[in-house]
Amino acid sequence: MTHVVVVGAGQAGASVVAKLRAEGFTGAITLIGAEKVPPYQRPPLSKAYLLGDMAQERLYLRPAEFYADQDIALRLGTRVVAIDPAAKTVTLTGDETLGYDQLVLTTGAHPRTLPAAIGGMLDGVYAMRDLADADALAPELVADRQVLIVGGGYIGLEAAAVAAKRGLRVTLVEMADRILQRVAAPQTSDYFRALHQSHGVTIREGVGLDRLLGDTRVTGARLTDGTELAVDFAIVGAGITPATILADSAGLHVDNGITTDGHGRTSDPHIWAAGDCASCLFHGTRIRLESVGNAIDQAEAVALNIMGRDLPYQPKPWFWSDQYDCKLQIAGLNAGYTDVHVRKGEAPGVQSHWYYRGSDLLAVDAMNDPRNYMIGKRLIEAGRSPAPALITDPATDMKALLTA
Ligand SMILES: Cc1cc2nc3c(=O)[nH]c(=O)nc-3n(C[C@H](O)[C@H](O)[C@H](O)COP(=O)(O)OP(=O)(O)OC[C@H]3O[C@@H](n4cnc5c(N)ncnc54)[C@H](O)[C@@H]3O)c2cc1C
Repeated sequence: MTHVVVVGAGQAGASVVAKLRAEGFTGAITLIGAEKVPPYQRPPLSKAYLLGDMAQERLYLRPAEFYADQDIALRLGTRVVAIDPAAKTVTLTGDETLGYDQLVLTTGAHPRTLPAAIGGMLDGVYAMRDLADADALAPELVADRQVLIVGGGYIGLEAAAVAAKRGLRVTLVEMADRILQRVAAPQTSDYFRALHQSHGVTIREGVGLDRLLGDTRVTGARLTDGTELAVDFAIVGAGITPATILADSAGLHVDNGITTDGHGRTSDPHIWAAGDCASCLFHGTRIRLESVGNAIDQAEAVALNIMGRDLPYQPKPWFWSDQYDCKLQIAGLNAGYTDVHVRKGEAPGVQSHWYYRGSDLLAVDAMNDPRNYMIGKRLIEAGRSPAPALITDPATDMKALLTA
């Protein structure tokens, strides 16, 4: 009987095994996860769950019984420590060895941490990657305390929004010239800077963290411009690095993530990869996406290809972020954009930013504007690029662009 072993019981790992069974795969399936809890969704960890608005059980992607019901061997609290591609085995903690016919790596990513030399190991310094991080951080969120957030990407900004909503005093430092610089246009940075400032968050851009201060627990921070501030605790949202150690040690090709071909296969024909740990091809360029949408779609493509469907995987990037009452939805990838065209909605705070490379529409950031997000997504997927003048003209019937 064919045995599929999946390493990493997160969003992508859970999607592979569920898809295999949904498509009628009758072989053996083992899903191995280092964390002790069943596969869960991470986005609420920096949103509703951190805010205390969501119970832990609601994070789970499927009820715990699902795996037994589907005859999926779920091995939690178990880490794979080595792969032997020649013998087609994996070694688990405790030295147990498991054979596989097809292996899927869905190992996710590690949060970047601050070096110990600048106080990264002090008590009261938190990462935001897994449930244990969120559970450790939650008790710190007490009104009037001072939190320092290091990093102005989506995770840092979401954490800032939660802390501000809970009545904390929040300072966010971003070393780059502006928040969201790596992922969004200046117009989007401006929108979110203003939103946070309107909720009392202090945003310092173009200023890095020199070091955290304190003996055993963080009590303050010195910034690169010499400013010192008192800090009760700190949250580090400095991005992630793909979890590729297993793949690397097994001799698989790794290049900003485990390299996969157009079908999700790694450089070993019996090993596949999906989710945050995997890089894939997008219009001929090698990219790595860090999103739920990609983790699900890539994992499902891998499941189908393990079953011999021979389906090329073409990413259709989409992402969202919730901050205060603003829902940001992003469709497409803006890499290489030359222009951004802004469409303002009638209500305050409703707007969309349309990224073009020349006359080609690449991506849309839609703030509280689900309708234009959907229209943008469908236009991008269909390869259609309306003239920018139509986008910015308030009189344009946007829906009509889909059929124009
Ligand atoms: C706080 C937070 C908020 C986010 N918000 C959004 C959002 O709003 N929208 C969005 O689209 N995306 C969001 N994301 C990103 C999204 O959650 C990830 O892209 C997605 O979870 C990736 O799924 P994955 O399965 O690749 O990795 P993960 O979900 O990270 O799962 C990987 C799993 O593999 C396990 N593992 C690793 N190595 C081993 C090993 N050797 N043996 C056994 N197990 C192992 C890990 O412990 C982990 O449980 C957010 C992420 C975080 C952390």
